[in-house]
Amino acid sequence: MRVVIIGGGAAGMAAAIAAARRGHRVTVLERGRKMLKKLGVTGNGRGNLLNCGPGQYFGDTAFAAKTLEHMPYERIAAFLEDAGIPLVHEDEGRMYPSSYLAASAVDALKWQADRLGVETVVNTRAVRIEKGFRVHALRTVYAPDITLKSGRVKPGEAIGEETVCFDCDRVIVTVGGAAAPVHGTDGTSYGLLTDLGHSMVPVHPALSALLTDQKAVEGLSGQRVRAKLTLCDACGKQLHQSEGEALFAEDGVSGIAAMALSRFASEGCVLHMDLRTAVTGKPDMDVLAWLRQRAETRDRRMLLLGAASPALTAALMRRSGGSLETLAQLIADFAVPVTGVRGFESAQVTAGGVKTAEFDPATMQSRLIPGLYAAGEVLDVDGACGGFNLMFAFASGLLAGSIE
Ligand SMILES: Cc1cc2nc3c(=O)[nH]c(=O)nc-3n(C[C@H](O)[C@H](O)[C@H](O)COP(=O)(O)OP(=O)(O)OC[C@H]3O[C@@H](n4cnc5c(N)ncnc54)[C@H](O)[C@@H]3O)c2cc1C
Repeated sequence: MRVVIIGGGAAGMAAAIAAARRGHRVTVLERGRKMLKKLGVTGNGRGNLLNCGPGQYFGDTAFAAKTLEHMPYERIAAFLEDAGIPLVHEDEGRMYPSSYLAASAVDALKWQADRLGVETVVNTRAVRIEKGFRVHALRTVYAPDITLKSGRVKPGEAIGEETVCFDCDRVIVTVGGAAAPVHGTDGTSYGLLTDLGHSMVPVHPALSALLTDQKAVEGLSGQRVRAKLTLCDACGKQLHQSEGEALFAEDGVSGIAAMALSRFASEGCVLHMDLRTAVTGKPDMDVLAWLRQRAETRDRRMLLLGAASPALTAALMRRSGGSLETLAQLIADFAVPVTGVRGFESAQVTAGGVKTAEFDPATMQSRLIPGLYAAGEVLDVDGACGGFNLMFAFASGLLAGSIE
């Protein structure tokens, strides 16, 4: 059978390799200049490819669970190892390539696809799927690359577009979501599926920085702390908790722990930061007793010397107004009003997407249009930080490519 896959990301490449192994003739269309560009930057370039712990998914969690029942962790790990990517285990179930280089996973998957005869067509953006199937696409034409005097090669500029069509028996849509548009995922490709009658769950940025009241984080930009974070709504109801690194910015808080809350955050929420570990070294410290003990041997200005950075000390002292009780309260609960979430440009994943009820989680085939499949972030499934998003992309891609 002839299979066209739209989108050369993690899900697309997994689908391509699975389909080619079953003897199908596979073509992958990728709008960017390179396949797997996003995979190459994941996990800060280290590639947190999977997570061997219990699944942590949002959106249609039941669909995610069923997908991973049909394609469990062990089979995805075996697929990666078979592609030549040994995996190593880090804390909290996070799995990385043994090289700790996402780029090596990119190279290995590309090589595997090449070896199986997968045709990859870059600079080609699918714009419409005609039932039956014919994929209509626009190919960007570039001027030749220029070699500068320094020896550096400057890629040629785009000079036009030409229409191209691909006929096939099966189409797999793996175009990603709306997050990180610099990697070719700007949300414009949902139309490929909605034009065919599929519906959408509204999208918003997830795993992004929290925007906060600037006064509340004044002077703290660039400070990293280990903290326990609790996000509450305007009525004080707890929405979600996380623990780990938080990084202050001019206009908010990022870092893994803060980003984990972004899916639940909106204007009016309050971020409660428990800084006891960062300041006292102990998560359950009685901070007032700890401060009183320190106050016996040092004057007020030196209370936090050696325990917190000068910037954090200054912010805490300023907000405490000189009261020991207020300072203790602030260390246990540094509350910051949330004004929103940084947009898709800064987000790692998309919450929401194409409605999963319209797809079969065993095969990823559309329930509306036989022969049409979707996998990866384009669907209404997003995972927590820790390898869950790539895991869903690989799992659903492998199922979609398992066409008989
Ligand atoms: C900075 C960053 C770090 C991350 N780190 C991690 C991590 O460590 N672990 C983890 O699990 N997840 C991580 N993620 C999330 C993870 O990368 C994604 O969830 C995952 O790549 C989704 O895979 P996908 O194949 O569905 O989509 P993508 O990988 O986004 O691939 C979609 C591809 O489709 C192409 N495309 C789009 N529209 C068209 C079209 N019309 N025609 C042709 N091609 C098209 C795009 O150019 C893109 O290459 C990270 C994301 C970012 C941005």
